[in-house]
Amino acid sequence: MAETVAGQDGKGQALAARLWRNRWLLGAGVVAIFAVYFFAGASVYVLVLALVALAAAAMLSTDAGRQPADAGAAIEASGLQRLSGEYLAAAVADPLIIFDHSATIVHANAAAFAAFGGLAPGMSLSLKFRAPEMQALLDGILSGQVAADAVDYTEKLPVERTYRVSASTVGHATGLYVLVFKDQSETRRIDRMRADFIANASHELRTPLASIAGFIETLRGPARNDPVARDQFLQIMQNQTGRMARLIDDLLSLSRLEMKPYLRPGTEVDLRQTIDSVIDSLAPLASENGVVIEREFADGPLVVPGDRDELFQVFENLLENACKYGQSGGHVTVSIADGQDGQQPGFDVTIRDYGPGIAEEHIPRITERFYRVDVESSRTQKGTGLGLSIVKHILTRHNARLSIKSEVGKGAAFTVHLPAR
Ligand code: ADP
Repeated sequence: MAETVAGQDGKGQALAARLWRNRWLLGAGVVAIFAVYFFAGASVYVLVLALVALAAAAMLSTDAGRQPADAGAAIEASGLQRLSGEYLAAAVADPLIIFDHSATIVHANAAAFAAFGGLAPGMSLSLKFRAPEMQALLDGILSGQVAADAVDYTEKLPVERTYRVSASTVGHATGLYVLVFKDQSETRRIDRMRADFIANASHELRTPLASIAGFIETLRGPARNDPVARDQFLQIMQNQTGRMARLIDDLLSLSRLEMKPYLRPGTEVDLRQTIDSVIDSLAPLASENGVVIEREFADGPLVVPGDRDELFQVFENLLENACKYGQSGGHVTVSIADGQDGQQPGFDVTIRDYGPGIAEEHIPRITERFYRVDVESSRTQKGTGLGLSIVKHILTRHNARLSIKSEVGKGAAFTVHLPAR
């Protein structure tokens, strides 16, 4: 009962409010109707009817036009009343610092504490961020020359991080300002990697190209009438074009892998059959290098989900490296064993050689693009420096992992951990 009364009261108030808001319109309408009544001599009934219609129109027009805007404004006002600057700062994922006209910290959010540590209200921002670009940013904003500005700022310790820092005034005449730090380190790292990659790829292509250009010049000049030199130079030029073709093939492989968004589900790869064909395809290289390939395959089905061509490329690259770089060991073992990688059942495929091995400091970087332990030996072995990065890319797509164990003088073992599901 109480609710009904309250509801009726509320409706009454809303109606009164609507009529009040339209008071000028109503007033003008009433004057117009009385003018018609007095000067045009209309009847009393017409006068009453016109007044009722005017009141109804005023109420309806308020309902249709103003209510949603009023409701939105009311929601906004009550929401903002509940919002504190501290909650808002805490909800921002980037480091954020609020400061006053004397560049003293008023508040720093949790992300700012995590990024810069040792921040506290009352501390001077100019002492915390002494870099000239930060001082210039603070000076510009505090002097009132600009309402908002941004600079790039690099923190050197504990690890190098680059931020895009924007500063702006908060509201009108609050005397408060805000600094927001956007971490750009990852974007910068990717940009640097891309630039390095292009520089490396261009260098790798330019070297054989320069050699071919040099030999063409010699063949047209001093060696024009020397058939022995001509044969020798043509052979070198052929080798160099082969090197460029291998590099372009590897670059295309990498870019194709990067563009493939996901692995086609549902396909399975028989490891025994795939690795047997890899060994067969590399038999000529192995015998050329005097390497014997031994197999140690577990019994039973050795099947994993994956893309057969891509896994073929993985084992081919690893076995080719073992035959090339581990040549002096005279033999290479390829084993497939049941493997448990963490909680995940699967298979471990290990390609082990007994050559010179890889020094410990090179192991973490060996899968980087164009990283070689010995550039000359890679070139004489027709390497491009991209083989292991292609391997890593394919394995990531297979949710698989590569582990490398090696001791200098005792060879190297590359193990691929493939999940069975
Ligand atoms: P590349 O085309 O030069 O062979 P990879 O990416 O396949 O490029 O290998 C990178 C480098 O890792 C090689 O240049 C070589 O120095 C080293 N490496 C790879 N496999 C072996 C191995 N089995 N024994 C010794 N060094 C190896």
